[in-house]
Order: sequence, then C-alpha cells, then structure tokens
Amino acid sequence: MAAFPVDPDPNAAAAGIEALYAGRTATEEPSAVLGGAFAAPAQVLKVGDKEYRVHPNVNLYVNPSPRCNARCAFCIARSDVPIDRENNGKEYLRRFEASLKFLRKQGIDHTALVLGGEPTIDRKLPMILDLLKRYKVRDPVITTNGSYLKNWVREINDSTLAHINISRHHYLDAENRSIMGSKTAPTTKDLKEVLGRIDRRISIRLNANLIKGGIDSAEGVTRFLDWAIDLGVAHIAFSQLATLPEEGGLVAKSVVKYSSAHRVSIGPILDAIRRDQRFRRIKVASGSHYNYEVWTYKTSRGEATVVFKDIDMNKIDLDSSFIDDLIFHPNATLGGSWNPKERILLP
Ligand code: SF4
Repeated sequence: MAAFPVDPDPNAAAAGIEALYAGRTATEEPSAVLGGAFAAPAQVLKVGDKEYRVHPNVNLYVNPSPRCNARCAFCIARSDVPIDRENNGKEYLRRFEASLKFLRKQGIDHTALVLGGEPTIDRKLPMILDLLKRYKVRDPVITTNGSYLKNWVREINDSTLAHINISRHHYLDAENRSIMGSKTAPTTKDLKEVLGRIDRRISIRLNANLIKGGIDSAEGVTRFLDWAIDLGVAHIAFSQLATLPEEGGLVAKSVVKYSSAHRVSIGPILDAIRRDQRFRRIKVASGSHYNYEVWTYKTSRGEATVVFKDIDMNKIDLDSSFIDDLIFHPNATLGGSWNPKERILLP
C-alpha cells in the first residue's frame, strides 16, 4: 500500500482518518457528530527554536519504501519528487529507532501505521514490527495489498499489530487484479487461506476505492459487502479517490489526472443506502480535509461495519505550525509533512 495521507490506495491512510477510526469503536449514538476539532488539547513538539502543536491523536506513518508489486493508476505513492536517499538496511532501522526515542522523550503519544509502497515486499518489515513492539507503540497497523502476507504470518502473529488494512478494489478477482495492475494480488481463495492463519486478536479491514467502472454504485457496494462477509471480514472502508494537489509533483501528474477522471462521488451512494433498511448510520465526522461516515450493514449473511471516506488533500494546511500526521519517510527522516523535503523534525 502506498504512502500519503490518503493511503496510496486511499486505503493506506486517509490522512488521519484511519487514526480517527482506529481509536474509536462503532458504538456511538446515531446522532454522534464529531466536529473535526477534538476535545483533547494538542501535544507540543519542540525542534530547536521551533515549537509545533501536534494532533492529540497523531499517527506515525512508517514508510519503508515506495516500491510495490502492483501498479494502481491512483497510487499516491507515485511521486514526481525524486527520493534523495533511500536507506534500505540497518541505517533506516537505526534512524527509525532514534525517531521513536525522540517522540517518546518529547512525550508525544502516537499510534503507528506501516505502509509503502507495499510493506510485505520489504525485508525490514519484521524489524519494524519488532521496534513498534519494543517501544510499546499504541495500536500499530499495517496497510497492504495482501500479496505476500503469507510470508510474514509468524512475525505478524508475534507482533502487537491491532489490525491489518488490506486493499481490495473489487469483489471479483480478475477485476481486482486489473484495477491493481498486478498478477500477484491475492485471489479470494488466497485471502481466505492467509486470513485463517492470522491470530484472531488482529482485526482485518478491507479498503476499496470507489472507481468509475469498478465499485461505483450502491449496488456495487452491497455486492462487495456480501463478498467480504462471506470471506469473514466485518470491517470495510470505501474511499472516494482523493482530491490531490496538482502542483508540486508530490503526487505524479498521471495519478492526479486518473483520480480526477475516475472519481466516483460518494454522495449519491450515501443517498441510496440511506433508503436501504440493511444500513444504519452510527457516526459522522469531519476535519479540515476529510469527511467520513460509519454505518452498519446487516443481512441474513452477517453484519459489517462500513466506513465511507472523502479526502481533499488540497485542504491540508502545510503552512501552519500544526502537525496532523508524523511520517517516517523512505529516506529515513522523520517529518511533519508528506513531502520529505518539508518540515523535517529529525534529519
Ligand atoms: S497496492 Fe501498490 S500500487 Fe496500489 S496503491 Fe498500494 S502502493 Fe500503490
């Protein structure tokens, strides 16, 4: 899974949305509406003379590498900004540990999400999981396209992972592989097999992008949900392709163009499910650059929690001294921006 606030598959992360959702259960009252602001005060991070205010529920995104075995046309890890220095081995891990120590020393309470690229093709993955365990980082999560989960089952079961986000953009195997541009993306049978080997304490979540020609209607959403419930997965997120910055090259121009041309508006889908007795809305939340709604879906097959996300990357204010997300970049620097050249906290 790619990097960036929205999860390269806007699965990956949805800048902060996953962190929000991860920390909360779907048990709030139907009327619960979070206004974007949190009751908890911001945390404070000092770097030299500079003082940053940090989101009270900040997530540390750990990106070992932008490499991936898939080639999704909407992948926001695809960037026109060259990576100046990629640390593939001990140096990356040494700097990652130094960053965990730095955050701990500053008293920053954070969760963690390991993404990419595709983290399961990276040999550093077990060591990253081990460091998250040793530093007792709260609620670690991994976002993956699932292709090579089977290679890391023992390490995953030994880790402190709270959940695994699996990117899956269609319930039909061939359609999903076509969307992901990958012959190795797992089939339904592959997923069933590997999920059966993962410790039940680790929650599994599926993330699907709403794409024209793919899952692009309320009917597509319900078919996907029925497929997921049959697979044994009870947490599913659907993301509108993020609105991406056209300038700066952080996201490749081809990705910005594809996302704009293939974006499916979430509004009509939500209108349709509001009229569907199988759905019940339990939470709505919004922030400066995102909106999301949490619903339950219940049929004779079973029940699932469903999240709908909508992110506008252009609304992230990079000029303020407020940090929404912490990112440990492939170049082994700790930053408060998705651009590895901006707001470097630990070079
Ligand atoms: S699976 Fe790979 S190519 Fe597709 S969005 Fe995720 S990181 Fe990008």
